[in-house]
Amino acid sequence: MSADLHARAREFVDRNQDLSPAEQAWLEDHLRQCAQCNDYAELTARAIQGLGSFSFSVGPALVARTQEALTRRAREMEAERSRRRMYLLGFVIACLFTAAGSVLGWQGWAWVAQRLQLVPWEWQLGFSLFWVFPSATIAMLLLVGLGLERSRIHERSLV
Ligand SMILES: [Zn+2]
Repeated sequence: MSADLHARAREFVDRNQDLSPAEQAWLEDHLRQCAQCNDYAELTARAIQGLGSFSFSVGPALVARTQEALTRRAREMEAERSRRRMYLLGFVIACLFTAAGSVLGWQGWAWVAQRLQLVPWEWQLGFSLFWVFPSATIAMLLLVGLGLERSRIHERSLV
């Protein structure tokens, strides 16, 4: 039997659904005579049946572990969100204290400087070093904390 006939038979097996009655008859005849093509047809039929009934069961332990992992991740994300909110709130409060405290403290500081007979650049420098610089530093540290928290979350989402 020529190789063309086997190839034709296998092609017919592959297109099993849309064969003409003549092709179907020819294929059945060939499969009766040819063990190789018959094996191929049976394997194909079994594979199609196997795909039709393909399913997998998941054990309750795996379901529980998956749910637990999802719940834990949701809790971690909520904690990260509240930490970020805390940093942001801290930053805003530190900025407000810097601005409001500077406005309020300026007069008192000027009064003290006058009593101590300091020249303007001395008391202005002192005010900057002892009031504006510390609270601005705290505000900046909170902003850095917020940035670190963001990059940590970003890194984790890449993993
Ligand atoms: Zn054949």
